[in-house]
Amino acid sequence: MSDTKTEKKGATRAGNYFISNYPPFSFWSDEENRQVEEAYARKPEADVDLGVYHHIPFCRRRCHFCYFRVYTDKNADEIKHYLDCTMRELEDLGRRPLMEGRKPRFVYFGGGTPSYLSAKQLVELTDRMKAVLPWDAAEEVAFECEPGTLNPGKLSAIRDIGVTRVSLGIENFDDRILEINGRAHRTKEVFRAYERAKAEEFEQINIDLIAGMLEETEENWRRNIERTLELLPDSVTIYQMEIPYNTTIYREMKDSGKLVAPVADWETKRRWVREAFEQLESAGYTISSGYTAVLDPERTKFIYRDSLWSGADLLGLGVASFSHVAGVHYQNLTEIGDYTAAIEAGRPALKRSLKTTPEERMIREFILRMKLGHVEAGDFRDKFGVDILERFAAPLGELQDEGLLRVEDGRILLDREGLLCVDNLLHDFFLPQHQTDRIV
Ligand code: SF4
Repeated sequence: MSDTKTEKKGATRAGNYFISNYPPFSFWSDEENRQVEEAYARKPEADVDLGVYHHIPFCRRRCHFCYFRVYTDKNADEIKHYLDCTMRELEDLGRRPLMEGRKPRFVYFGGGTPSYLSAKQLVELTDRMKAVLPWDAAEEVAFECEPGTLNPGKLSAIRDIGVTRVSLGIENFDDRILEINGRAHRTKEVFRAYERAKAEEFEQINIDLIAGMLEETEENWRRNIERTLELLPDSVTIYQMEIPYNTTIYREMKDSGKLVAPVADWETKRRWVREAFEQLESAGYTISSGYTAVLDPERTKFIYRDSLWSGADLLGLGVASFSHVAGVHYQNLTEIGDYTAAIEAGRPALKRSLKTTPEERMIREFILRMKLGHVEAGDFRDKFGVDILERFAAPLGELQDEGLLRVEDGRILLDREGLLCVDNLLHDFFLPQHQTDRIV
């Protein structure tokens, strides 16, 4: 059992807090990568959603808190070459038996900065993607944007290629804080980008904020929420600042021998998110996960998240991207040169993989769905033949005693405090062999 109370009050130290997958990445290896080929050689199972993720690893500037694989120095020819390789990857994988007769239910462009690409590059890229796996059954095409990269022509192109959900990486509304944290954009670009996105009438506009950036203050955080409420986006996603090991902030901590990151402690960050959620609720929003508030839950869905957290196959394209197909997790090579060289040589661009067991898949879905704040025991009985209330009786009982969740009528319901620290609670549901591992 993790000491959630201590963690809730602790200083922010280096390491990953956010749990995005299970089993942990450090259990994936390059020893059995042929299992990926075997997964693609299988026939698809009925009723398993398919999604496509495209990783665009280019940014104008590297944020000090960023831990993604991104490049800030690539020229137009290098970008074109990379995009061409991702299409060769898709053209190869799209022909495999596992893809037979399937069309993506969702498509996601993440990064990096997908909006770094020009309108022309986006049109060419997505035409090629659609030629392999048509998008006519896609209920959602999501696209991450950095506000400073959006001009009116580009936003029209983003809409015209079929994007339904744009997500603006605002993070903070204060220019000084944006600068100190290494962000490329400024507030005036945020408002301009938001208005342009509204004018294009996207089905959904999400904005991302981070609670606890370098030099965040009480007063400024309040202003962030006020400004968010002035914009009134369809959804608001708020992350609590974490400092993974491969960030500029961590390198500076290490160089100066500091163990504690120069950002707000966890208790403060949680309080900021709690207060933001309360204000958003007062303005009519509904809290739909530990990180997200939506204005109209009937209209505003996030199919990428919900489908992935319910066991969808995800075909990830590009450098360092993550995939999950037919029960096999894998990640692509994590350096752009290695990735493009492998694709050009006709070799699989694989870094590491893991074939999951049915039990691991059950746990994966369970912990990911806990992030929504509610889990139906019946869903797990039907899908996995497991009574999760019995199977997880001990950790659920302890979390209930801590006042972080309750069980009612076959449903696990996280209380707000539990939801705000949900990533800290999930290790308790891991198999014993995975519990001691740091999530990287
Ligand atoms: S814009 Fe996003 S992906 Fe790019 S450097 Fe900043 S945090 Fe990383």
